[in-house]
Amino acid sequence: MADDAGEGEQYGLLLYYKYASVPDLDELVSFYQSNCSSLGLLGRVRVAPHGVNVTVGGKLSSLEKHIEAVKARTLFEGTDFKLASSHQPLNDRVAKECGFTSLSVRIVDELVTFSSHPLLKSPNISNAGRHLSAVEFHSVLESAGKILEESGNDNEGLVLLDARNLYETRIGKFQSPDVETLDPEIRQYSDLHSWIDDNADRLQGKNILMYCTGGIRCEMASAYIRGKGTGFENVFQLYGGIQRYLDQFPDGGFFRGKNFVFDHRISVGSSDPNILGTCLLCGCCFDDYSARCRCAYCRMLVLVCDNCRVDAGTYVCELCQKHGKGGPLVSAVEDGIPEESLQQIDLKTHPCPRGIGKRPILHQTLNAMLILRVSL
Ligand SMILES: [Zn+2]
Ligand SMILES: [Zn+2]
Repeated sequence: MADDAGEGEQYGLLLYYKYASVPDLDELVSFYQSNCSSLGLLGRVRVAPHGVNVTVGGKLSSLEKHIEAVKARTLFEGTDFKLASSHQPLNDRVAKECGFTSLSVRIVDELVTFSSHPLLKSPNISNAGRHLSAVEFHSVLESAGKILEESGNDNEGLVLLDARNLYETRIGKFQSPDVETLDPEIRQYSDLHSWIDDNADRLQGKNILMYCTGGIRCEMASAYIRGKGTGFENVFQLYGGIQRYLDQFPDGGFFRGKNFVFDHRISVGSSDPNILGTCLLCGCCFDDYSARCRCAYCRMLVLVCDNCRVDAGTYVCELCQKHGKGGPLVSAVEDGIPEESLQQIDLKTHPCPRGIGKRPILHQTLNAMLILRVSL
């Protein structure tokens, strides 16, 4: 597919979503099918009774034409189109996993699956948290530090909530030294509501600053939190997500590491070269998902560095480890590492060239043992 864009033609990616009542689903599907096909765009279009969610790639000029055509429809008034130039999919496997080998236009019930539970009704989007622009979001985090300095207040009224999955948070997240950060560590978005239910006491009475990749996940999740009533009113969401924030703050601002994306770019970084992710096995700094290694149990993406990766390797993600899949860590310890050497190992760390991503070597040893067990 390397030649699709032709000589000198730049390739690009376009992402947008819009929550609005769609009067005629079939008509909108036909529009997308004919418009995207005629422009040679590939990717995913999801149309639901309450809106659309689109990720398509193609020639930059074709994507611009697509935006014009979409803008001409009143339904899309005020839509935030995120257009980025990009390399083409690196290889067929990545392209296929990201859905860039074909055009898929489908009618769905929900743009994002908030819950797989049939009885849990999706929250009402009109009750979503207030949008903060990237600049507003930034200045809230910035002033949190200042308020702290001036008042001696411990700033407990503000929490940062990452609405994304663990494998995304692993390689990049917002960090502000003065603000409490909550990472739900979920495998998929449909697990978020349960985390919110279980952690309601950590959210109640707080000013909740939420963020996700492009904004769509926060729309529903913020509405869900606000739906909990008294003490859950002050929910704010980063408009346009990390994508728009990094456009606005190319040096990363308060965002550390890379933004995981669901297209063939895999992740997008700022000019800050620091690596937040670490190899599951050796703990070295690593944040490249292009090998697409997955947990043997839950199939979640895991980070395994080039040195640790082996053909047909069996990996166990940190969540499955925590929940005892593949033989609990404790039993690996019981199996023979003496107490004092554990302490010794624990003191050593695996320094990252840039200082981030330190992890005790202990983890390598245990992880390596775990891998052995699973492959037996
Ligand atoms: Zn490694
Ligand atoms: Zn797993």
